Amino acid sequence: MVDFTGIKIAIDFDGTIVDHEYPAIGKEKLFAFQTLKELEKMGARLILWTFRTGNELDAAVEYCRKNGIEFYAVNKNYPEEIFGETVSRKIDADIYIDDRNIGGFPGWSGVWQILTPYEFEQREAERRISSARRNIFKRLFTLKTKSDGI
Ligand SMILES: [Mg+2]
Repeated sequence: MVDFTGIKIAIDFDGTIVDHEYPAIGKEKLFAFQTLKELEKMGARLILWTFRTGNELDAAVEYCRKNGIEFYAVNKNYPEEIFGETVSRKIDADIYIDDRNIGGFPGWSGVWQILTPYEFEQREAERRISSARRNIFKRLFTLKTKSDGI
């Protein structure tokens, strides 16, 4: 398993976790919460990084909580951080997931493949092996029934 311990991942909300329907909350993007949960399990610190503020921000945080994601911090580097003139407004994350990335948003399965290439290749290899095994059994079974029939 890829180790994401302590890795800070900043995630945009509108257009990234959900379809862009701001100020409403759009439909969840395919595999958004599933991917976030996996990254969290691997030790990543998830930071919600959105232009939303006030009630609209609260609604987004609550929506994510209902879907099983409790962010480490929201629009901050760490939960206790207080912004002032001496603190940079840019947070210090290791990875940013945003639909306004150059090149566009790859979708959550794309995000997963980029972040866990080895894991993805391994799964793909396992899938091929098990499919090959199934085919062997199918062939053996077919041969057996044919010979039984004779
Ligand atoms: Mg966005």
